[in-house]
Amino acid sequence: MLLIPCPHCGPRNQEEFAYERSVDSLVRLDDAPGVAMAALYARANLRGEDHEIWVHVQGCGQWLRLTRDRVTHAFRDVEAL
Ligand SMILES: [Zn+2]
Repeated sequence: MLLIPCPHCGPRNQEEFAYERSVDSLVRLDDAPGVAMAALYARANLRGEDHEIWVHVQGCGQWLRLTRDRVTHAFRDVEAL
């Protein structure tokens, strides 16, 4: 079971949250040669930290910005938005 440290509710099961998106790991490809679709994105798949947007849908309903290790998936920091 993976726990997410909600700053309002304390550590809660990940199943109470909904993942919205990654803030850091999207790379736009619409400037690349031969790519016609302006809204095309690809994951960079890098090591290090990723910043993700989650919402505590089965708890306080608040939006959170979580810092996660891309290799271990451990959460390192959380802040309310
Ligand atoms: Zn909460």
